[in-house]
This record gives sequence, C-alpha cells and structure tokens, in this order.
Amino acid sequence: MQNQMKTLAKIKPEVGLWLDPRPVPDIGPDDVLIRIRKTGICGTDIHIWNWDDWAARTVPLGLVTGHEFAGEIAELGRNVTGLAIGQRCSGEGHLISNQSRQSRAGKFHLDPATRGIGVNEQGAFAQYLCLPAFNVVPLPDEIDDEIGAILDPLGNAVHTALSFDLVGEDVLITGAGPIGIMAAAVARHVGARHVVITDVNQDRLDLAALVADVVPVNVAHQDLREVVARLKMKQGFDVGMEMSGNQAALDQMIENLVMGGRIAMLGIPPGKSPVDWSRIVFKAITLKGVYGREIFETWYKMIAMLENGLDIRRVITHRFPIDQFRDGFEVMRAGSSGKVVLDWD
Ligand code: NAD
Ligand code: ZN
Repeated sequence: MQNQMKTLAKIKPEVGLWLDPRPVPDIGPDDVLIRIRKTGICGTDIHIWNWDDWAARTVPLGLVTGHEFAGEIAELGRNVTGLAIGQRCSGEGHLISNQSRQSRAGKFHLDPATRGIGVNEQGAFAQYLCLPAFNVVPLPDEIDDEIGAILDPLGNAVHTALSFDLVGEDVLITGAGPIGIMAAAVARHVGARHVVITDVNQDRLDLAALVADVVPVNVAHQDLREVVARLKMKQGFDVGMEMSGNQAALDQMIENLVMGGRIAMLGIPPGKSPVDWSRIVFKAITLKGVYGREIFETWYKMIAMLENGLDIRRVITHRFPIDQFRDGFEVMRAGSSGKVVLDWD
C-alpha cells in the first residue's frame, strides 16, 4: 500500500477546501482502514467550504472533511472479527462512546458524546479512512458505490420518514433538497397516500417529480390550500416532515396539518425563530426532532428498502473525478443540484 494519500482538507480559515497529501492513517486494534471509492457532498460540507460562523466555531483547521462515503476494507485491526479485507462497505459517520446511559441502553444515536467524521474528526474525503469497525456497514452487491456514498443522507430521510406511521396517510414535506426528495420517495415506498413536497426553487421541484411519484408545489406562486382541495383531502396533512430549515415552511406546515397531526423535523433553522406555540397546543400536534440516523436500525431498513425496489438514483445529478472537486462544490453552492458524487478511483 502507498504511504501517502490525497485528501480534501480545510487548511486555511477562508472559503474553499484544498487537496492536501497526508500519510495513510494508522489504525487501532478495533478499527478498519477503508479505501474510499466514492463520496457525496453534503450541505454540511458547503458550510465548511464557505467557512461560515458555524464552521469556524466547530471545525478544527487542518481537518480532512467529508462524511458520506463508500469503499472497500483495506486493513483490519487485530481485534476485528466478522469483516474481511476487500469487503465493500459504507458506514455510520457518527462516532459514539459506550459510556452514556443512552448508549448502554442501545440507543446509540442519542449518545450525547457523539463526534462526527469530517466535522470533529478526520473525515472521508481521502483515499483512506480509519473507522471503528463498529461503524462499518457492509454493502450487498445490489447497492453500488455511488448509492453507497449517499446512504448517510438517505438515512436522514429514512429516519425522518419512519418516525411516524405513513401507511395510507397524507404527507407534507417542506423543502425539496436532496433529503426532502429522498424522504418523499421513501414515504411513497412505504405506502403513504398523497405526498406533497414544497419548495421555492423550481429546479428542485422538477427533480423531486423526476425521482418520486409526488405532487410538487412551488409555494412562491402556488397556494398549498388549493392543492389540498384538489387532492380531495378533507382536513389537511396527517404527517409533516420539515426539511428546509425555513421558518415560513414550518408555519405553513402547522397551518396545513390535521388536528392531532405529527411533525418530524430534520431541517436546521439558522438561529432562533418565532413559533406560534398556541397553534401547536390547540391542534394537539406532536413534534419530533430528528438527528442523524438510528444506529443501526435506520441502516437496516434503508438497505432492505433499496433491495426491494426503493429507487433514489436520479437524485444524483452530478458526478466528478476528485481532481475536479471544485466543479462539484460550485454546482452544490449554486443550489439547484441534487446529490453530487466525487469519484476517488
Ligand atoms: P437543502 O438546503 O439542499 O434543501 C433545503 C430546501 O428547502 C432548498 O431547496 C430550499 O429552496 C427549500 N426552501 C427554502 N425555503 C422554503 C420554504 N419556505 N418552503 C419550502 N421549501 C423551502 O438541504 P438538504 O441537504 O436536503 O437538507 C435538508 C435540511 O436538513 C437542511 O436544513 C439541513 O441542514 C438539515 N439536515 C439535518 C440533519 C439532521 O441530522 N438533523 C442532517 C442533514 C441535514
Ligand atoms: Zn451529510
């Protein structure tokens, strides 16, 4: 194996990321070394590229970025069992401790000591990634590397979509970013009746309609209540998934939900925002915050659904070799793309 590898790292406190050669990481007894084949660019990586306030507060300079990946196992730590060199895999990028009450109860995704690869710890935008064997998720042959590279955001979508029973329900998704679009596909796959997805960006809504059998609504020009009437829904939506981080979208969701409706909220508002709590109380709405993926139940369900016909491939709109990473980030920053995948081979 070579000793040096390419990485994409945050080496200066300014806009951008830089190709930075690093030594291939040494692994510990409980880790594996993964040879990265494909990676996905996430909204989080755009924050880090832009070096906004959140990124400057959170990300250590020098960090190798990236957390969405697929590859194959190149080396096993001496305690690792049940995995093999050459095995194709993706993996959970949230590193957890085994100390907290939540972890010891098996609720790993609720561990308060969670650290993220590519945010707090060395990431996956590299030819090799050192990852605890616990975090590795083997890939079946039916899931190729580019789908493997977007299982992290698909997992966000699946975790949100499976938060509430959707069978026969009418579902509103606010925000047709890659995650909202994949959540729409999942909602249809598991048997929702109507799935309406809103955005103010027409390119995104067109992509949503291409990926999933959904009703796209551009709330910049269209009245959501008219759409509700057209679909012959009597009271409103049973379940909402907030995937925009936008205050107006959340307000609109609360207005258009049935009495006793349920909201799963993945979108991250930029700061504090005013909420009309009395509407939530009088409508008896349940609101659930969703973070990351359930470790590893979301992974299990997601892979099972991909094996039984869930098709989200068209959400990948752009593919670039790693040496053209700047083009990939520019496409993402322009705000109309779906997922952008970088090829490390
Ligand atoms: P994205 O930014 O690509 O998409 C958000 C979409 O919302 C955009 O297309 C935007 O045009 C749209 N939007 C803006 N205003 C709107 C409005 N008033 N009504 C409807 N849509 C509106 O984001 P993404 O990568 O798909 O991620 C979705 C959200 O989830 C983001 O807020 C992201 O920060 C968050 N996120 C959360 C977690 C978590 O663990 N909780 C993980 C990943 C992403
Ligand atoms: Zn991500």
